[in-house]
Amino acid sequence: MSGFWQRFSKIIQLTFITLVLWAIFDVVAALMFYSMVLLFLIIRHIRHRAALDRWLQTSELDASTIPHGSGTWGDLFASLARFVRSHSQSQQRLSLALQRMQNATSAMPEGIVILDEVNRIEWCNPMAAQHLGIVLAVDTGQQITYLVRELQFVDYLSTRDYSNPLVLKQSRHNKLILSLQLVPYGVKQKLLISRDITRFENIETMRRDFIANISHELRTPLTVIVGFLEILSDEKKPKAEMYKQALALMSEQAMRMQRLIEDLLILSRLESAQHLVSDKCVDVVQMLNAIYHEAKSLSGGRHQIKLNLTSDAQLSGSQDELRSAFSNLVSNAIRYTPDGGEVTINWAIQNGQGLFSVQDSGIGIDPKHIPRLTERFYRVDSSRSRETGGTGLGLAIVKHVLNRHQAQLQIESKAGKGSRFEVWFPGKRLINKSSSAL
Ligand code: ADP
Repeated sequence: MSGFWQRFSKIIQLTFITLVLWAIFDVVAALMFYSMVLLFLIIRHIRHRAALDRWLQTSELDASTIPHGSGTWGDLFASLARFVRSHSQSQQRLSLALQRMQNATSAMPEGIVILDEVNRIEWCNPMAAQHLGIVLAVDTGQQITYLVRELQFVDYLSTRDYSNPLVLKQSRHNKLILSLQLVPYGVKQKLLISRDITRFENIETMRRDFIANISHELRTPLTVIVGFLEILSDEKKPKAEMYKQALALMSEQAMRMQRLIEDLLILSRLESAQHLVSDKCVDVVQMLNAIYHEAKSLSGGRHQIKLNLTSDAQLSGSQDELRSAFSNLVSNAIRYTPDGGEVTINWAIQNGQGLFSVQDSGIGIDPKHIPRLTERFYRVDSSRSRETGGTGLGLAIVKHVLNRHQAQLQIESKAGKGSRFEVWFPGKRLINKSSSAL
């Protein structure tokens, strides 16, 4: 039976009992009985009502503390308990979903800012806070242009054409390059997505510089060769002497281009085979003797060259790569040391490490250039480098080879006083260690 019929039948029963009392006794007895029942019901109602008020004031909508009741109130409290339970379950589900969404957006490598219809910050994830310097507790409701003040961004925001992202270098954070993209959604709301593209932009700049440098390096010798070819083809009968001179200069320039291409190929091989060194036993003493003789022929007697070997330790590594690195350092010492100067090549063991060094009494290097020397095409004196056949890639090759052998390069130099290039090999790369003089 439904609640309504239950209650209706109780009223019928009460009326029936009252009528029976009237019939047996008199009307006063019947009315007394009726009033007593009504009074009881009113008191019960007031009690339940007070209990409900107390629960509403004190509890935090906790179903387990809902008061117990009888009759209509019992039904009401039971329905209330069911409602509170289902409400708190859906609240739990909602907060779980919110937590999951917050965890997911916090883990995202992109920054996300929610903007309202007048570009005020409503919410952002931690990455956006880091990218754009937003402190959510303080900046919620703040205009985004108050934090990202760059004119380009203000223009981007107002154009309403968000099909392409905006690349932004912030003045506040000069090393960070961001890609910012606005995505309209909902009712005039916007998502601002930020990505850190500093690495890609730097690689792109390096790529552009590299191409510009190679083009420049190749253009100069090519201009010389093309110039001579034009002169020779214009001459009806070029003199033999002129021919000889032109051919000598053209082959010098062709060799320059060849050296450049060879160095570029070495570099590209080193870069593409990042961590793979073919570990062979390299006889450093034998290699340095060969390099010493090459150095003497490169110098042509213009320098005093010494070979100082205090160890016969061998190295585990790539013969070709180590030879290329050592030769580059030795040839640099000769090329940047004026006639009559001294160049000393050393191999020793120090503090359990292998130490190869080249010391010269040459032109030296101003300390401000030292951190950049191993960059591709970085030269202190471009004309001297080119005059002596330099490609600007020697020390970049050295750096790569040493990285692949876990070795460290240390440069000590003073302009006008000579230089010392030291290469330190870790003990684990040494074979047959011995520190006795040979
Ligand atoms: P390059 O082919 O120009 O010699 P490197 O990469 O070998 O290129 O060297 C980079 C620059 O470092 C050179 O242009 C030169 O200015 C400087 N440098 C290298 N070695 C020496 C040295 N022993 N003495 C003085 N300067 C040097």
